[in-house]
Amino acid sequence: WTPETTAVVTGANKGIGWAIAANMAAQGIRTVVAARDEGRGKAAVARIQQETGSKDVLLAQLDISDGNSVSAFANWSQQHLPKGIDILVNNAGVAYKGNAFGPDEAQFTLSTNFWGTKALCEALNSQIKDGGRVVNVCSVAGKLRIIKDQALQQRFETASSPGDVETLAKKFVDDVRAGRHSQEGWPNSMYGVSKLCESTYTRILAKQLQPRRVTVSACCPGYVSTDMSSHRGVKTTAEGADTPTFLALVLPAEQTGQWWTDRQSQGF
Ligand code: NDP
Repeated sequence: WTPETTAVVTGANKGIGWAIAANMAAQGIRTVVAARDEGRGKAAVARIQQETGSKDVLLAQLDISDGNSVSAFANWSQQHLPKGIDILVNNAGVAYKGNAFGPDEAQFTLSTNFWGTKALCEALNSQIKDGGRVVNVCSVAGKLRIIKDQALQQRFETASSPGDVETLAKKFVDDVRAGRHSQEGWPNSMYGVSKLCESTYTRILAKQLQPRRVTVSACCPGYVSTDMSSHRGVKTTAEGADTPTFLALVLPAEQTGQWWTDRQSQGF
């Protein structure tokens, strides 16, 4: 990695994203901490600079669920990273706690974890350098096996365009709204479906970016002690950041389009 190498990490103000950004900065990579709250972002940048000794840590405001914020971020990165982006880690994500389940909650969860991640990948597409890397932090909770209905499972397996995944995501929200999601073969997990949509999109994005030799990976960080897991996770954030960091920095480019956990490739 050269001092010209640049990495963008979303949701980098805390948790696993912070630890991934710190790993990038520790390698001497110019690291962008993308955070939706400026104050939290500033504090995160200061901590990364202090712990890694890197001065090359930049802060940018980004709410991936807000189209205007995504466009503003793409403009910002064009201005501040004129040579392009080598590494994009889509880590930002949300999960409701407890038994919350409903159409608005489903829309919100998918708007961040799936539509937000997709929107950012699309907005930054032309800025990601040939031979670059995209790492999407998905979850074991969103593996294909969560769909018990065979026909629906097959629709995920055969999805071949971002539009196919959008249709499925929209169908889930519509089915929840109409009170027929179980009947239609969906699980009771908005988070699981959002992450399945995200990883299915990742597989498709890998194909789209293959001609430009961009390595695209989906992964699960494991069960990590963060605010999202109410600190019940068994891994530290440094341990959770290990696989995403490995995929961003070490993975051979031929291994694009796979799903990973603990540095091991598994099926989707
Ligand atoms: P945290 O809740 O600790 O951190 C989530 C981060 O995402 C925060 O920085 C948060 O910002 C940010 N974020 C949330 N919504 C948005 C948004 N709309 N735009 C921009 N940033 C946003 O969670 P984790 O660190 O645990 O999770 C990181 C990733 O790992 C997530 O994608 C999660 O789904 C995944 N994951 C986590 C597991 C775990 O055990 N912890 C297990 C499997 C997957 P803010 O501080 O402003 O809220």
